[in-house]
Amino acid sequence: MKPLSELTRPNILDMELRFHEEYGHDKNTARIFLDKNENPYNNPYNRYPDPTQNELKKKIAQIKNVKLEQIFIGNGADEAIDLIYRCFARPGIDNVVAIEPTYAMYNVCAKINDVEYRKVPLDESFQFKAEELLSASDANTKLIWICSPNDPTGNSMPREEILKTLNMFDGLVIVDEAYSDFSQEMSMLTELDLHPNLLVLNTFSKAWAGAAIRFGMAFAGKEIIDTLNKVKHPYSLNSLTQTKALEMLHEPYETDKWVKIILLERSRMIDAFKMLPFCEKVFPSNANFLLVKFKNAQAVYEYLLKRGIVVKNMSKITLCEDCLRITVGSKGDNNELLSALRQY
Ligand SMILES: *Cc1c(COP(=O)(O)O)cnc(C)c1O
Repeated sequence: MKPLSELTRPNILDMELRFHEEYGHDKNTARIFLDKNENPYNNPYNRYPDPTQNELKKKIAQIKNVKLEQIFIGNGADEAIDLIYRCFARPGIDNVVAIEPTYAMYNVCAKINDVEYRKVPLDESFQFKAEELLSASDANTKLIWICSPNDPTGNSMPREEILKTLNMFDGLVIVDEAYSDFSQEMSMLTELDLHPNLLVLNTFSKAWAGAAIRFGMAFAGKEIIDTLNKVKHPYSLNSLTQTKALEMLHEPYETDKWVKIILLERSRMIDAFKMLPFCEKVFPSNANFLLVKFKNAQAVYEYLLKRGIVVKNMSKITLCEDCLRITVGSKGDNNELLSALRQY
């Protein structure tokens, strides 16, 4: 890996980190707060949220078995994705490499940041080879995006190829594990101490069932996390979200229970889809959704919409021709979907 100072946008490198771990007053002695021009009324909404989120980070450090300094918390994982561009990829100069198809935000944020986005198509079983990502890169490639389990294909990416990419690439490798809690594969978090160029993303939006509160995480070495925190808006994680997230982190068994039910439903859905005469293929999934190939996906999509059932039309996406991406919902929702499809 190149030194992080060489990978960081020069304007960001020059900045100071304002809200670090030790930021703030002594919680035990400070009593009266007249430093932020807050209004004394309307408690607790009158106070700015904690810009360090240390309480949350302590809890996450335990659950994920990482160090507090290796955790970044953002307003959804999407905030981390945008910040990674704004910290490391220079507009109009640098480029990034990503597997294709994958999560759309990597490309959206590349466009917003005026960074060239290079797509490396997956093979027909939706896998990639490290060499292919590396041959798409050059001296100005700062980031490689890998999503595992991948959205929209649902499969996990081969660990050896991710490790090879980490070893051979001298920029940063981001492994987006938004769906890892639905997968039996080992998380890349265990590699954090061994690979200084690794960033792992996760979110409360999927397995934790908290998409509404906007809570996402990035894990990496302290230097990378500090860089992200230099650029992050200090109060992007509002107090309501922090309070609710802390509450949810104290009941992780709830999440485990939901995930188990969703996985059972996923197997049931796979079997049911396979029975449909107009279903051509159900791709293997390690996530809470299924990529399903139909005889005429567009027509199936429109038919379901007329019945009030919304799935994701992927038929215009590379390698996903005639595919719909279908989230595994509640038992009731899944039954409605299946009965509509049986009447198609
Ligand atoms: C849903 C999703 C996210 C977004 O996470 P938020 O925390 O809701 O912003 C990130 N990456 C992938 C691959 C996703 O599918």
